[in-house]
Amino acid sequence: MWFPDKTRVGWWKNGYPQYFGKVINSTNYIGIRVFIEEEEIDLYKADIKEYYRELDMQHGILTRKFTILHNEKETDVEVVRFLSVVDSELAVIKYSITPKNYNGEITFIPYLNGDVRNEDSNYDEDFWKETEKSAADYEGYLIMKTKDNPFGTPTFQVATTMKIVVDGTVTEISNQCKEEYVDNTIKVKAEDGKTVSMYKYVAVTTDRDYKGNELVSNGKEVLDRSITKGYEVLLDEHKKSWLKRWGMADIEIEGDKEGQQGIRFNLFQLFSTYYGEDPRLNIGPKGFTGEKYGGATYWDTEAYAIPLYLSTAKPEVARNLCIYRYNQLDGAYHNAKQQGLQGALYPMVTFTGVESHNEWEITFEEIHRNGAIAYAIYNYVNYTGDKTYLSTYGMDVLVGISRFWAERVHYNKKKQVYMIHGVTGPNEYENNVNNNWYTNKIAVWTLKYTLEVIQYLEANGHIDRINQLHIQKEERQKWQHIINNMYFPYDSELDVFVQNDTFLDKELMTVDQLKAEERPINQHWSWDKILRSCFIKQADVLQGLYFFNHEFSKEEKQRNFSFYEPMTVHESSLSPSIHAILAAELGLEDKAFEMYHRTARLDLDNYNNDTEDGLHITSMTGSWLAIVQGFAGMRTANEILSFAPFIPKGWERYAFKIVYREHYLKVEVNNEYVSISQEGLPLIMKIYEEIVTLPENGKITMTLKQQKQQQLTSTV
Ligand code: BGC
Repeated sequence: MWFPDKTRVGWWKNGYPQYFGKVINSTNYIGIRVFIEEEEIDLYKADIKEYYRELDMQHGILTRKFTILHNEKETDVEVVRFLSVVDSELAVIKYSITPKNYNGEITFIPYLNGDVRNEDSNYDEDFWKETEKSAADYEGYLIMKTKDNPFGTPTFQVATTMKIVVDGTVTEISNQCKEEYVDNTIKVKAEDGKTVSMYKYVAVTTDRDYKGNELVSNGKEVLDRSITKGYEVLLDEHKKSWLKRWGMADIEIEGDKEGQQGIRFNLFQLFSTYYGEDPRLNIGPKGFTGEKYGGATYWDTEAYAIPLYLSTAKPEVARNLCIYRYNQLDGAYHNAKQQGLQGALYPMVTFTGVESHNEWEITFEEIHRNGAIAYAIYNYVNYTGDKTYLSTYGMDVLVGISRFWAERVHYNKKKQVYMIHGVTGPNEYENNVNNNWYTNKIAVWTLKYTLEVIQYLEANGHIDRINQLHIQKEERQKWQHIINNMYFPYDSELDVFVQNDTFLDKELMTVDQLKAEERPINQHWSWDKILRSCFIKQADVLQGLYFFNHEFSKEEKQRNFSFYEPMTVHESSLSPSIHAILAAELGLEDKAFEMYHRTARLDLDNYNNDTEDGLHITSMTGSWLAIVQGFAGMRTANEILSFAPFIPKGWERYAFKIVYREHYLKVEVNNEYVSISQEGLPLIMKIYEEIVTLPENGKITMTLKQQKQQQLTSTV
């Protein structure tokens, strides 16, 4: 559920969106107050012995155990929680208490509280009003509705329904409803050495899925069928589903426990955030682990998340992420219109497809994001081979984006080239630059790919789709003219692609010339100083070399990497993974490894000192990318799967699983061998430079080629 918020400011600029938005916290259903005799358990004040907390990432279960001492009474407590991945509307909490040296009474007060706020912005604003509630013994529900807003965006209703089951002797039970709140008070007999358990089953149903008057009945249905199955069965099926996910996606690392924990933590968090069931959903940069970035959709999904989901889950997952954008095409047309342009401009930040970010340098200028949406379509089709996606959904999006690019370029008559002025590249530490190499590149690539797709559809009986989109010969010719005549900044002396027209006029320095106390520069320098500096926030030219990897020679990659990486401060968490992949390809193994560790344990080690804002969900994909596309060198260009692995120093072995088309592959690398096994029909693929056939349900083993480790020497 998201809520729009006003963005009108005194320095309003035409074209700004009317509102931005954020995901809002809703009814708190985890609450359970517990009393031993008359004393409420409060871990902050209590005398606690042996506190233990475990996040079982393999099975998706959170457990807490502790022993509490009070007036010489000793009590063991165990709390187990999980959000079912089998039934996505269901949450389960089991609260167990064992008196160790007394007989007495335990009171449980499970409740639902609708009076919740967001923490970071809006300063305590209340977004919800109660529409209905009810409590009875062993159950209760609360329906909350978002308040009306001045922008006319839809309101949402969320029903939270609970049912309670007690394993023990209940001596008294009552219930109550208060404003935006319902609860049960359940007194249970406690006997020395005997465990009593209270199970709180919660269903969350919303009017996104059901009619308003059917929310509670559907919630109850979820709870009834769950209680009939029983806790153990629910837990078991939940565990099995998690094991199935791991079965397709796990990465094993021997010789680096921290690296191992990092990658599994990241995969667990990613899969907890999104597993592709619903094309109405997407992945915010912080998922739902924090309020920063408002829970909105960014280009991160297409650029960083889709590659991971393509290899670690069924194709529907990535497909649903692509369909999400297709469903928001109207919003993208609206955004372009706001800028006085034709075509579709996908937003930098959104819930509906309509842009909800208003800083001119991003809203109007960071338009490279549009290309990432097109790239994701290519990536999905190229990886899965599912060409039907092009005629059903992909085509409309590609044509919309291409029309935008064709309008946004201008023709420089004097130089007889097309240019794109006034942009911000992925490096947000420079604004309003002309001819950002990456933006020009992805614009031209989109036009080219769209033309190829049109040709493919023409040749395969989809002329009707082309006519539907009113694609005329003249328009195609214009696109071709742009493709043939786009200007790309290039420096012949350095022999590198130049980030933008004025980049080389800057005072060029390397990051190692910065004082440690000045870093990160975004926390120590004024914005103005950052903008004038040469320091690069994240991959920019190198983002292009990553996306279009197969179009560039190793020497080109080498030269550009040696020029740009030493000036890169990696102050976006999205940055290290792209550098890890390129470094690995260039034989800069230490650099690749350093970059891997930065993404793998970013949150576990609170590397950027900002984990309290939430986890870096979209950049968590980076650790996976660094291993699979970096260390193992996986590529899929031109519909052939290839690997060129090395093993980082200190690692004894690593292994990962991927799904590629109908093939379930396991790749294992140790200090001597690389072996690839599969379930599936024979697969023609490439290992290093050699074309091989992986036999049906078979295995290939090859000697590991350790390339000579290169050292990064800055060319700045
Ligand atoms: C990055 C963007 C990214 C956003 C959300 C920013 O710091 O520069 O590329 O989309 O964070 O992750």
